[in-house]
Amino acid sequence: MNNQSTIATDKVKNEINQPSIQVGISACLVGNEVRYNGGHTQSRLCLDLLSQCFKFTSFCPEVEAGFGIPRPTMRLTGDPTSPQLVFSNDSTSDLTAQLVKGFEKKLPEMGHLDGYILMKNSPSCGLERVKVYQPNGHPHQIRTAGVFAKALKEQYPLMPIEEEGRLHDDKLFDNFVLRVYAYSNFRKEVLEQPSLHKLMVFHSRYKYLLMAHNQDKCRTLGRLLGANKNESLEELTHTYFSSFIEALSKPASRKNHANALFHILGYLKGNLSSMGREHIVEIIHNYNKGLTPLTTPLTLLKHHLMQHGSAYIKDQRYLEPYPEKISPMVRYL
Ligand code: SF4
Repeated sequence: MNNQSTIATDKVKNEINQPSIQVGISACLVGNEVRYNGGHTQSRLCLDLLSQCFKFTSFCPEVEAGFGIPRPTMRLTGDPTSPQLVFSNDSTSDLTAQLVKGFEKKLPEMGHLDGYILMKNSPSCGLERVKVYQPNGHPHQIRTAGVFAKALKEQYPLMPIEEEGRLHDDKLFDNFVLRVYAYSNFRKEVLEQPSLHKLMVFHSRYKYLLMAHNQDKCRTLGRLLGANKNESLEELTHTYFSSFIEALSKPASRKNHANALFHILGYLKGNLSSMGREHIVEIIHNYNKGLTPLTTPLTLLKHHLMQHGSAYIKDQRYLEPYPEKISPMVRYL
């Protein structure tokens, strides 16, 4: 192979390896020295693991708003339902409008993102549980979202958004990453050029993942597509998308996973000896009791499905909702 074709091959390899999922992130989490004291809060989880699949777009709302580096620390004060951003050492000036002015032009440019990872506790970026201080210097019982995080959620209500700190919990990590992939897949596979057929194909591939998260919603979504009579395609697509994202919003329980696994086992009927089937049933029961991680029954089922499964069941996103290389060690629990 000559030099030119080697370079061409390397280029193709690089392009293939480029992550296609675009995710926004608080700039301090990627190591940018944008914090009030000129430091950062670099996240190894994001930089070493998630960056294998996510292409990050970093943004610091406080720097964008011109508060400078370094700058005095800030906090939220006043009514927790509509707090004001102030400097911690001088609560006389309301800085909220300056912060909003800094990000309001950028927000509409974030529509290409498939998810967002935010820095916890920040009066700008914190997603929830951010303290709001009273005039006596004590925080209210009620916590809230930072000013930028609140605006981001309002602008993109279906976008998966999570705090970096919570991603260190395997269950929450798994749920966030699978939602980012689901959100991205829906936008690519349905929203780019919606049709009822595409909605049905999408739903069909997500059936068992939906079942593992919310059995009622899974049935309701199926009925919505089957019985649609009066809604326009646009309304139907919107109703489906919001209910779909809501169904995945909480991690699946062991009981629901076990139920989905038993349904999938049903597709191997006639291909397993009774002893082989009993073995898998026992392993699913053990998973349900908390004795093994999900990976154990899932790997076993995948092994048999590879040999005997129909195209329909092998195509289920439940079997690999996102690339295994970033899966928590033992796809939890
Ligand atoms: S938490 Fe948000 S506002 Fe604060 S330094 Fe990080 S990116 Fe900037």
